[in-house]
Amino acid sequence: MECKRCGNCCNDVRLAESPEVLQKAYKYWLQLSMINPNFSEIYLIYPMLTFKYQNLSEDLPYHYTCKHFTFDSNGLGLCSIYDIRPRMCKDFPYYDGITLADEEKLSPYEECGYNE
Ligand code: SF4
Ligand code: SF4
Repeated sequence: MECKRCGNCCNDVRLAESPEVLQKAYKYWLQLSMINPNFSEIYLIYPMLTFKYQNLSEDLPYHYTCKHFTFDSNGLGLCSIYDIRPRMCKDFPYYDGITLADEEKLSPYEECGYNE
C-alpha cells in the first residue's frame, strides 16, 4: 500500500470548499499582518488550484486541478513543491472525520496505490 505517483489525486483535488469560499478565505488571509498556520494553509491552497466541476452529492463535492503537478524524467508524477506542500497533501488519503470511498477503500481514486 503506497503511492504509485499516478497523479490522479493532484489532477482531481477534492475539497469541501467551493471556489468562492476559497477566494474569500484567501482575501481574508491577505489582510492579516501575520501568517497563522493554525487558521489555514489557504495561502498555499488557493493559488495552486483551478476549479474543474462540482458534484453536490459527494462529501467533498468540489473538484480542482493543481498547477504544481508535473512529471519526472521517468514519466512518474511529481509534486514541484513537495517539501512545502499543504497538509491535506501530506495526509492524503486520510481525512479528518470524512469517509470518501466505501469501507474497503482508503482512496476515492480507482488507480490509487492506497487501495491495494
Ligand atoms: S501540492 Fe503537490 S501533492 Fe498537493 S495536489 Fe499539488 S502537486 Fe499534488
Ligand atoms: S491517486 Fe494514489 S497512487 Fe495516485 S498519486 Fe495520488 S496517492 Fe499516489
